[in-house]
Amino acid sequence: MGFCNLVHMTSSPSLTSLAGTVLHGVPVVAGVQYAPVIRPGKLPDLSDDPVVEIPDDQREAERERLVAAVETVAARLRERAAHATGNASEVLNATAALAQDRGWLSVAEKRVNEGAPAVRAIEAAIAQFVDMFTKLGGLMAERVTDLRDIRDRVIAELKGLPEPGVPLPDEPSILCAEDLAPADTAGLDPTLVVALATTFGGPTSHTAIIARQLGIPCIVAVDGLDDVPAGAMVLVDGTLGTVTVSPDEATAREEVAGAQRAAEEAAHWAGPGATSDGHAVSVLVNVQDGAAARAARETPADGVGLFRTELCFLNTDTEPTVEEQTEIYAEVLEAFAGKKVVIRTLDAGSDKPLKFAGHPDEANPALGVRGIRIATRNPGLLEHQLEAIAAAGERTGNPPWVMAPMIATAEEAESFGTKARSYGLTPGVMIEVPAAALLADGILAHVDFLSIGTNDLAQYTMAADRMSADLATLTDPWQPAVLTLVAMTAKAGAAAGKPVGVCGEAAADPLLACVLTGLGVTSLSAAAAAVQGVGAKLSQVTWQQCRDAAQAVLSTRSALDARAAAQGVLS
Ligand code: PEP
Ligand code: MG
Repeated sequence: MGFCNLVHMTSSPSLTSLAGTVLHGVPVVAGVQYAPVIRPGKLPDLSDDPVVEIPDDQREAERERLVAAVETVAARLRERAAHATGNASEVLNATAALAQDRGWLSVAEKRVNEGAPAVRAIEAAIAQFVDMFTKLGGLMAERVTDLRDIRDRVIAELKGLPEPGVPLPDEPSILCAEDLAPADTAGLDPTLVVALATTFGGPTSHTAIIARQLGIPCIVAVDGLDDVPAGAMVLVDGTLGTVTVSPDEATAREEVAGAQRAAEEAAHWAGPGATSDGHAVSVLVNVQDGAAARAARETPADGVGLFRTELCFLNTDTEPTVEEQTEIYAEVLEAFAGKKVVIRTLDAGSDKPLKFAGHPDEANPALGVRGIRIATRNPGLLEHQLEAIAAAGERTGNPPWVMAPMIATAEEAESFGTKARSYGLTPGVMIEVPAAALLADGILAHVDFLSIGTNDLAQYTMAADRMSADLATLTDPWQPAVLTLVAMTAKAGAAAGKPVGVCGEAAADPLLACVLTGLGVTSLSAAAAAVQGVGAKLSQVTWQQCRDAAQAVLSTRSALDARAAAQGVLS
């Protein structure tokens, strides 16, 4: 099982330069762990293998060799399934079935019949199916990792190499990988693999499913994770979605202990969101599709505060029809029947380009045509989406709220508000651009609610790329300048008597959630994994403590000081 790939390192030049770096990803399962990194073993690079054409009279034998290798791999997976339980067993059986799927296998066999060696035939057949699954997007795209895993196992079998996979650690460790195949994660021992982090993968990938079942912290889509070598000590925070490389040991251990205490308390929180003395604050959840919404329904969240619709179409080449969109949006509305659901119109552009949005070539796409600005070049896109959102509301009997991303001016808010109302929808806008926070009162004249996107608000306030690990201190939502803009926005909402929520990652930090409440925010929307922690923390502090903490952070001079000031009041 590739044990030899487990390289223990105490230091290396690249690790030294990474020390203290905080990498960001999508939080999937809450919890904090501090342990050394392990990485799954990989197949050696076979690209230099000579490609020979199999002579006619040997092709049948080569085809039989391929089928036998597939049978062996599938049998091994089934054997492991028989010894596993619950989801793990199902996942292993499903992988075994995919290994023997006639679709890809017949493509591979055909190639062998044409003279390709078995290894090359498998590579080509799986590449063809990977491409197809990727184009289909959504859940199918997440099966791509399963296909690649099957490919590697069958090739290892054909080559007589050790089966690739997860090394068995001899101490509690954190498993980091590009992505994890079901056969890797099913059957993991949660006392030895205490957290998972992957470079790729979505919240509904097998990695996420298994992590939830094992109850271990998990973060997916971690930017820069590939640079962290096996053996490096890392602190994984599954609530904030951060991986800190080589942190200060004493601080890391204190964070783990603190998180364990908080988790024990949070497990009892069942909503609704309120401070200990009854000041109500809706605790909502962020989702990206129907599956995530159904999973989020298991939390005590009181609704959906942000449905990121663009994430449904990242692998879609052409604009989905109104009917296709209606079905997708209806899934989320159905999952939260009778509850508030805020659907955001496409936030295409920058780090989330959509193939069908017609993005121009831009030197600086984060400051370019993204979010609502797309609608100027392509008004049909917004009209069709509003039509689909309205249809989904009618179909499910759950009327959604709808909001536009990246609003910068009152005119943009007015135009969006008018359009959304013409479809019978309740319109709001996101506050992500400092200009919009500064003039929030003018914007509120045209819409019914605001939702503050602290991820982008921090990026644009601090002029610091939110993807940059080097600038993570600047994009910290605890920056007093960012919190000052939140305060201004909340004040405008209170004056207009309209709700102002926060749906950026700031709302997932329990301490900061209390500060935001104190600043006057009326709802907090966070990843499902963070909901209970936020709700529990709020229920332990008074409304006055939140307001005192808000007052205290506004007079600090750095994110570090702001956090410390809040801690002083709220813990
Ligand atoms: C934000 O910017 O805070 C936000 C919620 O939007 P996104 O993270 O999708 O850009
Ligand atoms: Mg944003």
